[in-house]
Amino acid sequence: MSIGKKDTSYDALYTAFEERIEQLSQLPRIKENSSIENTIEENGFERRDFMKWAGMMTALLSLPSTFTPLVAEAVKVADRLPIVWLHMAECTGCSESLLRSAEPTIDSLIFDYISLEYHETLMAAAGWQAEQNLEGAIEKYKGRYILMVEGGIPMGNAGSFLTIGGPGKKGKDIAKEASESAAAIFAIGTCSSFGGVQAAVPNPTGAVGLSEVTHKTVINVPGCPPSEKNIVGTLLHYLLYGTLPALDAYNRPKWAYRLRIHDLCERRGHFDAGEFVEQFGDEGAKDGYCLYKVGCKGPYTFNNCSKNKFNQGTSWPVQVGFGCMGCSEPDFWDTMGIVGEPLKDRLYQTTFGGLGSDATADKIGLGLLTATAVGVAAHAAISAIKPPKE
Ligand code: SF4
Ligand code: SF4
Repeated sequence: MSIGKKDTSYDALYTAFEERIEQLSQLPRIKENSSIENTIEENGFERRDFMKWAGMMTALLSLPSTFTPLVAEAVKVADRLPIVWLHMAECTGCSESLLRSAEPTIDSLIFDYISLEYHETLMAAAGWQAEQNLEGAIEKYKGRYILMVEGGIPMGNAGSFLTIGGPGKKGKDIAKEASESAAAIFAIGTCSSFGGVQAAVPNPTGAVGLSEVTHKTVINVPGCPPSEKNIVGTLLHYLLYGTLPALDAYNRPKWAYRLRIHDLCERRGHFDAGEFVEQFGDEGAKDGYCLYKVGCKGPYTFNNCSKNKFNQGTSWPVQVGFGCMGCSEPDFWDTMGIVGEPLKDRLYQTTFGGLGSDATADKIGLGLLTATAVGVAAHAAISAIKPPKE
């Protein structure tokens, strides 16, 4: 099988991907009479839209553009891998953000195309039939299915704060059992990754992330909600590589969560120049100055929103004038401070000569040092915190 032109420096990887796609294509289709070409066409997209999307996903996965045809081929065989999607303690926002857009995106169509063998929000079955569907999918696709879990896992009162279905089975037991036979496990959203808002102090239900209930490796895809690109990209990565991606200290894929929001932010030049919005609606806000002093947590947050944006790449919170809340970090609700207010020097007071990042920002604002020197120093100070580890 030969698809597209090869980049010679990536020959081995290209060949490995080709072989992996070939292997997957030998597996039986789960949905007969369906193809990604038909799915996108029925929804008003043309093949070139799909290839443009595949090119964007290729770049997102840090692969050369010559791999675009392979990424498109990987999507075609995505219907060979069944997916079981569980809902725990959550708002269903992660599913909603991906699947319920007013106009379908190619990312949402990919999820129409793949075989969601069990998804409580989307499936037609209810009651006993739904429970049988879950047990049936786990049995039938043992060792082959991808488990995606949305929501934190309540562990308090022996797990009884979350019971599901007629027999009142506990969420923690369902998640644990489904993890046992999964080929790969993705925690979708901050709740499933780290417990989320319901795990905020005082955490009355004892909510925890999925990794606390299984001994198997969980790939965390946090965000509230996570970007659809990060969800689909994690799936594509697994399809292409067949292995776990390189993960950071919090088990987040490094291709998506390697950089801070701050690193690629379009307002970054203003941060370095000491130009800050002092309060919402002021002249600095009108001029697009940095939002750090009005609570942006971008310097502390590892995610790719500033690169990929939302709503088909049209915008993201910082672009419209509201700072990052740090939603992809563990315990962000407790550790990122008050929304709309800077962190002050509470967390990082030893990073820059005894000053925290906010103190550094004030110094910049006062012009005590040259803007360039302070910009470099501030960047160095913030870069010194919490580096992701291999
Ligand atoms: S502090 Fe926020 S708004 Fe300012 S440059 Fe960093 S990420 Fe952008
Ligand atoms: S900009 Fe910040 S708060 Fe908003 S989704 Fe990205 S990481 Fe979460």
